[in-house]
Amino acid sequence: MRQYLDLKREAEDAILFFRMGDFYEVFFEDAQQAAQVLNIAVTSRQKSADGSAIPMAGVPHHAAETYIARLVRAGFRVAVCDQVEPAGASRSPVRREIVRIATPATYLDPGYLADSEAAYLMAAAELGTAQRPLLGAAWVDLSTGDFTAAEFGAETRFRECAEAMSAFRPRELLAAEGAPPRALLAAAEGEPLLTRRPGFWFEFEHARETLLRHFGTASLESFGVEGSPAAVAAAGAAISYLEETQRARLAHLVALKRLDTSGRMPLDPVTLRNLEIFQTLSGARTGATLVETLDRTCTGMGARLLRRRLAGPLLDRGFIRERHRAVDELTRDRTLSNAVAEALGNCPDLERLTSRVALRVAGPREYLKVAEALSVAETLRETLGPAGTSLLCSIRERLDPLPPIRRRIEETVAGDAPLLLREGGVIRPGVSAELDELRRLRFHGHERIRDMEAQERQRTGIPSLRIRYKQVFGYTIEVGKGYADRVPEDYHRRQTLVNAERYVTEELKEFEARVASAEDGIREFESQLFRALEAEVGAAVPAILRTAAALGEADVALGLANTAFSRDYVMPEMHAGFEIEVSAGRHPVVEAVSDERFVPNDLRLDEGCFLMILTGPNMGGKSTFLRQTALHAVMAQMGSFVPAAAARLPVVDRVFARVGASDDLSRGRSTFLTEMEETAHILHHTTRRSLVLLDEVGRGTATYDGLSLAWAIVEHIARAPGLQMKTLFATHYHELTALAAAERGVVNFHVEAKEHRDEIVFLRQVAPGGTNRSYGIQVAKLAGIPAAVVQRAGEVLGSLTEEAGGRGARRPPPEPGVSHSPLERAERRVAEALRAAEPDAISPKEALDLLYRLRQQLEPAASRTARMDSVPPEGA
Ligand code: ADP
Ligand code: MG
Repeated sequence: MRQYLDLKREAEDAILFFRMGDFYEVFFEDAQQAAQVLNIAVTSRQKSADGSAIPMAGVPHHAAETYIARLVRAGFRVAVCDQVEPAGASRSPVRREIVRIATPATYLDPGYLADSEAAYLMAAAELGTAQRPLLGAAWVDLSTGDFTAAEFGAETRFRECAEAMSAFRPRELLAAEGAPPRALLAAAEGEPLLTRRPGFWFEFEHARETLLRHFGTASLESFGVEGSPAAVAAAGAAISYLEETQRARLAHLVALKRLDTSGRMPLDPVTLRNLEIFQTLSGARTGATLVETLDRTCTGMGARLLRRRLAGPLLDRGFIRERHRAVDELTRDRTLSNAVAEALGNCPDLERLTSRVALRVAGPREYLKVAEALSVAETLRETLGPAGTSLLCSIRERLDPLPPIRRRIEETVAGDAPLLLREGGVIRPGVSAELDELRRLRFHGHERIRDMEAQERQRTGIPSLRIRYKQVFGYTIEVGKGYADRVPEDYHRRQTLVNAERYVTEELKEFEARVASAEDGIREFESQLFRALEAEVGAAVPAILRTAAALGEADVALGLANTAFSRDYVMPEMHAGFEIEVSAGRHPVVEAVSDERFVPNDLRLDEGCFLMILTGPNMGGKSTFLRQTALHAVMAQMGSFVPAAAARLPVVDRVFARVGASDDLSRGRSTFLTEMEETAHILHHTTRRSLVLLDEVGRGTATYDGLSLAWAIVEHIARAPGLQMKTLFATHYHELTALAAAERGVVNFHVEAKEHRDEIVFLRQVAPGGTNRSYGIQVAKLAGIPAAVVQRAGEVLGSLTEEAGGRGARRPPPEPGVSHSPLERAERRVAEALRAAEPDAISPKEALDLLYRLRQQLEPAASRTARMDSVPPEGA
């Protein structure tokens, strides 16, 4: 218990898995927590000093990884404590040590890591003075060796850092004790685990020392972080933490990169969320997201690269077109793409395997997989032979199958090698003459025993004499009690059983020593040869990682081509100008998951009309149209084709998507305040080359406030010389349609809907012109609001519209085929009200009021009908 408590102090924020024989035992509070997550029983073991029972739960050691994975997934850290000397080696309790700590960003078990998801740890460090505060951040994916740091000094440092963070989507956030990275946590997707470590880890000097020691360099110059103390602080803290959790050399973290976002379009967390690129708005990681719609990659390397690219679309038209041309070639040449798919189909995850090689935790079978992946690289290089586009050619050039490494693995590791080195049988016969000789000795040993047994039976005349092997006693000659008198002198008694005695002879002892030394020798040789292999392959890690990267790139190009082919996407024409021109554009995700037939829509935004005000009923398709436009830009710039019949697109420098007053309640902020903060950010950070979506902005406050703000925002965007960027503004404030007449560059569009026998029919067509009807009541009816409520709402609407005194523009023309004009409907309502009235039950005053109200209901409807009669019906 004392040993347990000492070790527990070393890893206080983790559940301690304490190895006892064949089990990992968990005690005290850990036991309660673990039992709940793992659904295992809590028992109690001994009494503790004060006499109370100690809660305890245990899991068998051979199944430990499954349990660890479940705990880590549930947000716990697990410290694994093993016995580090053989049992019985000393009289005191066997020595135990914590050998590793598993946490969301540091647990590398293949059963835990999802192939397609990166597993970043993010460390954040705050340095500087109150006047010049600095925020440093570092991101490490231990499973791939990627290590990046950055420093943010501006006033907007949290936002910039959060933007960078959204590309990494860390699983765990490391911060100094007492330094609340609340702004960062709030901005993070997927709720990373917050880990706190002592402040000195994050101090510049300590962190710098840690990095110099880790990299074995005299300066940090070559990493480009020498002049950035906060970046160094964060990177150093990250290394300290990884050393704490891995307790191994982090050999594959060979370089630290300075975050380079130049050339990439930053996508801030809010935009990522609103466009549902990685997560649906409901927060689900799976479901109807862009990444899932696009992802047809076949390897983990490809899947992760696709995600990185989606988080950072390109800004250079040349690079974008290069990617498009590769996808185009694979879309057209199906023979080529089928061959590439076949080659990549069974490719192991070379990137993650290589990290395990570097960390010296890869087992024999994983080396075989490295060789297998290298042979895929070789095949793929041949397959890509006929490829003509520059990107595919460059991938082909970089696919180095490293023949010496592959040969070395294949010639060393047995084809049927076990998972773990200690299981034996790892090294192929023929690799080492000494090893083969020892194996022969061991094999012949068994034959020799059978001979000796026969020989002893004959010599003693004991027919049931047996030579047996037992773990503790080794080889013994077993003789039944009845034959005790025939036992020769040279037999020495070892053990007495109920019915038998066990003996050894000098010859047997000698033999046993020989076999035992052969066993030891075999183990020794195997592990020596394996360590040599580890070292040799380990030295090639950077080269292997380059090949892995090329495999991933090929996979992404192939995946995007397959998506484009099967979903009928088109190669966008990227031009250097300003305008967006899309014909028959679709929303990639809605069209893939919706049961409804998707209605394609055209879009043109240019210098003459860059700000579209989109009105129309709820559920009409406004948000979908806005999002599809932004998604086209993101998809095109990350290298994908787009869902449309044709598209001419500019390179945009940023995409912003803001949705008014959504359900941000879970984050505990005033929705309207958030909405305004976001909008303010856009107004400050966009350029003319940005693409902005404002979806119902202004919704989160009282009608007139919201309307006025929306109005002023549109005016500002339309007028400010630095702005005038392509903007789509969806709104239910019909009043805004008046801006089109007043402001240059502003145009009205609406999503069409028709009313048919009091039911609303959504046409999903985006058409020029404004609308001033929201069909809210019809939508309510569609949603199943009781008929009486719907009817009453109609009445209230009628009187409200009259109070407004004809404010707003013209009413839509009556639909052909719809039998009731507004006047007819008003008359019906009046008739119904009259029928419902009970003249005997109301006072004369109430009767008079009713009369006035009924008259009022009829009048404006009558005059409106008269006015509209002069407008030709739609489609006439
Ligand atoms: P709004 O923002 O106008 O309230 P949405 O864009 O949220 O409307 O669209 C409502 C629903 O209509 C969506 O869930 C989607 O399934 C469907 N939808 C939208 N646009 C289209 C379209 N062009 N074709 C088919 N269905 C669409
Ligand atoms: Mg909407």
